Amino acid sequence: MSQDEPIFECKCCGHCCHGQATVSVTPEEQMAMAKFLGLSMDELVSRYLNVKKHCTEMRIKDGHCIFYGRDGLCAIHPVKPFHCKRWPLHPSILSDEAAWKAIKADCPGFRKDATYTQVCALVKEKLNGFE
Ligand code: SF4
Ligand code: SF4
Repeated sequence: MSQDEPIFECKCCGHCCHGQATVSVTPEEQMAMAKFLGLSMDELVSRYLNVKKHCTEMRIKDGHCIFYGRDGLCAIHPVKPFHCKRWPLHPSILSDEAAWKAIKADCPGFRKDATYTQVCALVKEKLNGFE
């Protein structure tokens, strides 16, 4: 394993876009999505979103997020929600090594020999970038 390889690099495997749950989408993110897709807000909601009592989420279709493309890529990559942009470098990692182990088990993007200390440093760096 080369030390030159990044601690994390997305392999675009799509695993994190699969499952029966997806992430919440803020009103600002919904507007960005609608603009990117050339849709009105009503069209965006009726085609792609689930409006729940306390949040709005992307729909699930065929076991994956409705925006997960046949090419294995995100169809709205430039405007995907914050939670997607940040994943898998989630702040829960900082306070719980078990959280990193669980995330790492589901994501092949981490370098095999990456240590918890290295991953925490990367999470902090990414968090600073989002502030
Ligand atoms: S599971 Fe990891 S490597 Fe695969 S698409 Fe998601 S972030 Fe990228
Ligand atoms: S918006 Fe894109 S990155 Fe986020 S879950 Fe859907 S397909 Fe995956």
